[in-house]
Amino acid sequence: MATTDRQATALALAHALSAAERGLAVIPLSRTKLPALRSPHRDEPAPAGRPCHGACGRPGHGVYDATTDPGRVRALFAAAPWATGYGIACGLPPHHLIGVDLDTKSGTDSAAALRELALRHLFTIPETVVVLTPSGGRHLWLTGPPDTVVPNSAGRLAPGIDIRGAGGYLVGPGSRTDHGVYTVAPGTAQLPPAPCPPALLRLLVPPPRPRHPAPTTPGDQGHGLVHFVLTAHEGQRNTRLFWAACRAYENGIGPALADALTEAARTTGLPEREARATITSAARMTGHQAH
Ligand SMILES: [Zn+2]
Repeated sequence: MATTDRQATALALAHALSAAERGLAVIPLSRTKLPALRSPHRDEPAPAGRPCHGACGRPGHGVYDATTDPGRVRALFAAAPWATGYGIACGLPPHHLIGVDLDTKSGTDSAAALRELALRHLFTIPETVVVLTPSGGRHLWLTGPPDTVVPNSAGRLAPGIDIRGAGGYLVGPGSRTDHGVYTVAPGTAQLPPAPCPPALLRLLVPPPRPRHPAPTTPGDQGHGLVHFVLTAHEGQRNTRLFWAACRAYENGIGPALADALTEAARTTGLPEREARATITSAARMTGHQAH
């Protein structure tokens, strides 16, 4: 058993490294499909509104540990020798991966539900990477535009269809879990993940919320958003800034927080002009004017 587990770990690492080479950021997973490394903060009292996303420098922050750097992938697996699989972070550059998870467990025909959505909303499901799950489900890999944050959702599109977006992850092919091995569907391994059809993308991104008249001061939530931008790794700077700016505009603190977000992004090395452009597009997408 121990030998089998070691082989499973070595295999998972090999698959994770090859995914990383394709630009997909990965983390080690345990047999339960959860991040293999436990939080270094698990014994600390819950923070007041500002959970650590890796700023402490230690591993164990779930999908926030995800990396394409082969040295860091090896280090994460070395810290989690019980890992038998790996997760692929969604929503990150360069692919901005979106996972369409077609479940079979609930007894619903989620593949038929997706075909029906496609007919109703006039899109076709492109040829793309398909991962087969041990329980008979399928994961379709799609890519999103860089300026759009797709949220995670479960059953919102249709029963049995879960979406893995920003902050979510997909179990990578070659992973072994308690229920079996994830594999790439024959003939799809060599395909690049296909762009998400625009009509499907519109269903995945929630409509902008109505404008809130108050509040006008950033407050604690503003500090949390600024902190989120400040602790971004190089590959996450723009995505995090965009996400934070969207939340700020949705909550009526966008104009008040724009300068602080720009400054935070500049601190992480993003040029000011790029930061301003990202905030402007976040304002536009949430139905606001930047100033
Ligand atoms: Zn931490």
